Parts: sequence; structure tokens; C-alpha cells
Amino acid sequence: MYHGIHPKGYWQFVAIQDVPDPNKPETWVFQLQTTWKKTTEPENLTDEDIASLGKHWNRAEGMGEPFKSANLWVPEGTKISVNKMAYWVPIKWDTRGGRVILAGDAGHSMTFQRGQGLNHGIADAANLAQLLQSVRDGGRTKEVVVEEYMNELVEGAGEEVKMSIVNTDMLHDWDRFLESPIVKAGGHANQTNKIALEEQRHREALANGGTEPNP
Ligand SMILES: Cc1cc2nc3c(=O)[nH]c(=O)nc-3n(C[C@H](O)[C@H](O)[C@H](O)COP(=O)(O)OP(=O)(O)OC[C@H]3O[C@@H](n4cnc5c(N)ncnc54)[C@H](O)[C@@H]3O)c2cc1C
Repeated sequence: MYHGIHPKGYWQFVAIQDVPDPNKPETWVFQLQTTWKKTTEPENLTDEDIASLGKHWNRAEGMGEPFKSANLWVPEGTKISVNKMAYWVPIKWDTRGGRVILAGDAGHSMTFQRGQGLNHGIADAANLAQLLQSVRDGGRTKEVVVEEYMNELVEGAGEEVKMSIVNTDMLHDWDRFLESPIVKAGGHANQTNKIALEEQRHREALANGGTEPNP
């Protein structure tokens, strides 16, 4: 799986879905997903326009390789689906005495570019199972443990939803992407850490009224 960022504000993700014969790449099935902000394309386009193969090929024209060819080679007649990204930051809900439980995307739908939705869903299931075990084994009440579960979900997954929004936003903004450590340091761990430390010092300096903190 890999992804690409386009200066015009497109983001693309290419993932292998199926490998029927490892020795015959022509049999492999790929998924291509392009995302962009509402403001990147004209407002009056219908879903049908957006999903037309012609528009898809136009978007591909400005891409670098291998994205350009991967998109241009999508054959005539391929159906393209349109989706709108949605998210919500979870808030506490009425658990009705521990009987109403939200988990996974139902509890914390998030944008997918950071790839954390399923991770958090699995964490929800693990947390909940452990807490419910403590009802069975430890004499705790269902009301109390579900309340505890909800508080952890609202805090942990809530934070992730917000971080995912920032990440999605950055990936569709070329100028901000150029400022990211991956561009500035090329993914080199030491260099990336150095940049992160410098940025942290800069933020602390600003918080301290403009003076550099002591090293
Ligand atoms: C392109 C993409 C890439 C992603 N990549 C990652 C990644 O790399 N890492 C990661 O952690 N997460 C990733 N995610 C997020 C992840 O896919 C979701 O967070 C996860 O699938 C949510 O699981 P879920 O069981 O909570 O919800 P869902 O997978 O949405 O399952 C809900 C199920 O309920 C069914 N349903 C709905 N209504 C009813 C009804 N009334 N009656 C019966 N059934 C119903 C639906 O059909 C569906 O099968 C990605 C998401 C997308 C879109």
C-alpha cells in the first residue's frame, strides 16, 4: 500500500486487495482512492460527474509515476464510487445503566488517512471485554464499568478523531505538506527527531513570551 500527495490538493492511496496468483501481477486486484477537499473542484458537480472516468483520468494527468499510469490504466467501464468523509468527536452518552454501549466507528467515526479507526475499534473491544470480566469476577457493577469504558473511549478515541482531522487536512494542503518532517528530513529518524525537538523548543519559546527556554 502506498500513497501520494498532489500539489493541487489531491491525495491518493493505492492498495492491493487480492493476489490470486503471486507470479502473475496482471491478476492482482488493486483499490485506488482519491480524496480532496470540497473546495478543490467546482461546487456544482454532481456525484455522477465526480465519478466519471473522464474526470478520474483528468485528475491523473498531473500526478507523478506510478500514480499517473495506475490511474490512466483504469479500464473503460470501471465503476467509481463516491463517498463523503465523515467523522465525529465522541461525547459522553447516557448508557442507560450500562445497557447502551458504543464501539468502533459507531462510537468514533474518523477520517481514514491516519489509519487508526480499526485499531481503536479493537482497543474498544479489548477494554470492554476486560471490564465486563471484572463484573463477573470482581463484583463490580455493569453501570460503573460501562461508565469507565465510555470515559476512556471519549478521551482516547476523541483525541484520535481530532488528530485524524488535522492529518487529513494537512495531506490535502501542499504548502503544509512541504513543511512536514517527512519532506524536510526525508524520513530519516535522527533528522526527524531533531526537527520535532526544534519545533517543540520553538513552541515553548513562544509560550514563554518569546524567549528561548534553557537547553
Ligand atoms: C479506505 C479506508 C482505509 C482504512 N485504513 C485503516 C487502517 O489502515 N487502519 C485502521 O485501523 N483503520 C482503517 N480504516 C478504518 C476501519 O476500516 C474502520 O474503523 C473499521 O472498519 C470500523 O469497524 P466497525 O466494525 O466499527 O464498523 P464497520 O466496519 O462499518 O461495520 C459495521 C457493520 O454494520 C453493518 N450494519 C450497518 N447498519 C446495520 C443494521 N441496521 N443492521 C445490521 N447491520 C448493519 C454494516 O453493513 C457493517 O458491516 C480505514 C477505513 C477506510 C475507509
